[in-house]
Amino acid sequence: MIPYGKQTISEHDIDAVVEVLKSDWLTQGPKVPAFEQAIADYCGANFACATNSATSALHIACLTLGVGENDLVWTSPISFVASANCALYCGAQIDFVDIDLATGNMSVAALAEKLTLAKQNNCLPKVLIPVHLAGQSCDMQAIHTLAKKYGFKVIEDASHAIGAKYQNKSIGCCQYSDITVFSFHPVKIITSAEGGMAVTNDRVLAEKMHRLRSHGITNNPELMTEASHGPWYYQQIELGYNYRMTDLQAALGLSQLTKLDQFVAKRNELALTYDRAINSLPLAHLTQHTDCYSSYHLYIVRLINASKEQHKTLICKLRAHNIISHLHYIPIHLQPYYKALGFNEGDFPNAEQYYQQAITIPLYPAMTTDEQLEVISAIRQSV
Ligand SMILES: *Cc1c(COP(=O)(O)O)cnc(C)c1O
Repeated sequence: MIPYGKQTISEHDIDAVVEVLKSDWLTQGPKVPAFEQAIADYCGANFACATNSATSALHIACLTLGVGENDLVWTSPISFVASANCALYCGAQIDFVDIDLATGNMSVAALAEKLTLAKQNNCLPKVLIPVHLAGQSCDMQAIHTLAKKYGFKVIEDASHAIGAKYQNKSIGCCQYSDITVFSFHPVKIITSAEGGMAVTNDRVLAEKMHRLRSHGITNNPELMTEASHGPWYYQQIELGYNYRMTDLQAALGLSQLTKLDQFVAKRNELALTYDRAINSLPLAHLTQHTDCYSSYHLYIVRLINASKEQHKTLICKLRAHNIISHLHYIPIHLQPYYKALGFNEGDFPNAEQYYQQAITIPLYPAMTTDEQLEVISAIRQSV
């Protein structure tokens, strides 16, 4: 069986975790701040806040940017549900911006149009969450220009995109956003088992996220509303959560980070081989922009000029060949939970067309040449 993705764990990774297990600190020790510093350094961001998942990082990122009841958050319908759920956790309303079919990323043209209308109707979003699908950056410079014009904040959901670049800078440098979020779930580029990270260049945002990660508690006397009772004292100044990453996870993440560039280079190499192989088939790969270097979390193709039934058949046939292809993603607005909030079929036509065409085929750093040839041959026989 060839899965659509899988983690690569080395002896070095295992030793790093065992070392923590034998230490005094399983959690709230030195590994978490070391991992945060390493990710901030890697991305070229000033601050990083590690969490137990990207989902919790998205939640506290929204709260930190002031998202609450009566606020609107916009994201892409072609993403994992977490990109939208984070707004609902804050009591805000969610809406979507349709995608560009060629890249699968949020369409800047659709965004500009929706913003013009929203301004007229006095319902501009407070926060926009663009998602770097499969590891290719959205058009962040254009999004940033619109953010300045209309006064909204930007959280990059870069769950797919650690190790990727935009305009020759690492995703996570936050040049065009307020906060960027990464996921370290095992299917992603590097893993800490479960885990996430929010990076930012703004100290105030970083401090707030650190507080929200741990119950809203502070040890900073300047933020306390009454004098310290003694050396044991801490104060809860707002409502936070337990979203902490453990030192076991951070040690794994730190060890994995040393192989990030290697993983991404291998993913790009495999992607190039796929690009060439599907040229002669009725399949299109996602268009790559020249100012992007994708981390290729996923290799997605679109089955062109085919019916819904043919699309499903191809995925099933590949599975019959023991090639576990997948579909990223079911448009979020078509989830029954979201339909119950008022979304309907037809709301985001490009996203819905994409859903009828997209197939994720296997890609992971440990994939062998033989495995890739097997996938290509199965596709040729099935398409
Ligand atoms: C995986 C993923 C998430 C959630 O990540 P977790 O670490 O599993 O919480 C959020 N957004 C996108 C786009 C993802 O792919």
